Amino acid sequence: MPFVDEFRALAGRFSGQLEFDAPLSRVAYYRIGGPASVLATPRSLEDLTLLHEAVLLTGCRVFILGWGSNLLFPDEGYPGLVVRMKHLFTGVEETGPGRIRVGGSLGASSLLKIAAERGYGGLERLTGIPGSVGGMVTMNAGTHLGEIGSILVSTETVSFGSGSPVLEKKIRIHVDSDFSYRKNHFLGPSDLILHAEMVFKPEDPARIKATIDELYQRRKATQPVDLPSCGSVFMNPKSAGLHAWQVVEKLGLKGHRIGDAQISEKHGNFIVNLGSAKASDVRALILLVRERARTELGIELQEEVRILT
Ligand SMILES: Cc1cc2nc3c(=O)[nH]c(=O)nc-3n(C[C@H](O)[C@H](O)[C@H](O)COP(=O)(O)OP(=O)(O)OC[C@H]3O[C@@H](n4cnc5c(N)ncnc54)[C@H](O)[C@@H]3O)c2cc1C
Repeated sequence: MPFVDEFRALAGRFSGQLEFDAPLSRVAYYRIGGPASVLATPRSLEDLTLLHEAVLLTGCRVFILGWGSNLLFPDEGYPGLVVRMKHLFTGVEETGPGRIRVGGSLGASSLLKIAAERGYGGLERLTGIPGSVGGMVTMNAGTHLGEIGSILVSTETVSFGSGSPVLEKKIRIHVDSDFSYRKNHFLGPSDLILHAEMVFKPEDPARIKATIDELYQRRKATQPVDLPSCGSVFMNPKSAGLHAWQVVEKLGLKGHRIGDAQISEKHGNFIVNLGSAKASDVRALILLVRERARTELGIELQEEVRILT
């Protein structure tokens, strides 16, 4: 791919990591996916600026990767630049009474550890979600305790790979209509989340830790956490008054297998990778469930997992 040379030329000035023809299976929770032409892991805003300039120059395709826990990459790979947001901004600082500013690259488990140490109540809702803050805001991730959108005050973003040659930071103060179930309604296709500001309720650290520990135990008992997956494959079809796992159970598809992809025996809304599953196997299972839910139960299932083509 001719655009790749432009990224090779960044070596020496780029403080993070630049990899070429890098297997995406290595960076996706699913352990599935062919190579990305360029996989860049920036470590500073200067790195991000170098990538931005190279994208403007080459016009190559760009994908922003968080921790890769809600993604199915294609077997053929990605013919463009994947920007991996694992190590960019990971700090947590108090910005006022009951408010914290969190780096978009920080993982939920690290954030929860800090919440349990410092007594930041209300963040327990993120327990067991293996994503980054940026990924969780994009997906409005949540659990039965609530979603991230309802504790979010503001986000700091840059428009990456389009528009002005300079990366301009934009702060957005959030309103309720910015989020709905597993969706945000404010990010543009090239918006990249650098930081998020959230509210918390000061609470006893020991109580917060106990809640988090209990929620982790419950997850272990009910979800196949020991096998690669993307978490819930389908959103719950709320109009049908059912959870997606109940739909799969009604169809008798628990345990159904195509290649090395299997609808989990433990949780009907998880498709797990038993070892060498391909994206095409997972997609075939998704199509099968959707088709049978539509024809046999009259239910339209929508994917929660983001499938790249
Ligand atoms: C075992 C397991 C359990 C799970 N449980 C839950 C659960 O209980 N609740 C739930 O809601 N989800 C759950 N998930 C799904 C997943 O963890 C969430 O969707 C999470 O929010 C994804 O975050 P990520 O950083 O991994 O994002 P990725 O999967 O890397 O990306 C998801 C989307 O966010 C975008 N994105 C990521 N970072 C940024 C950024 N900094 N700026 C702009 N865009 C960005 C990507 O482009 C992509 O469109 C689970 C997944 C697994 C594997």
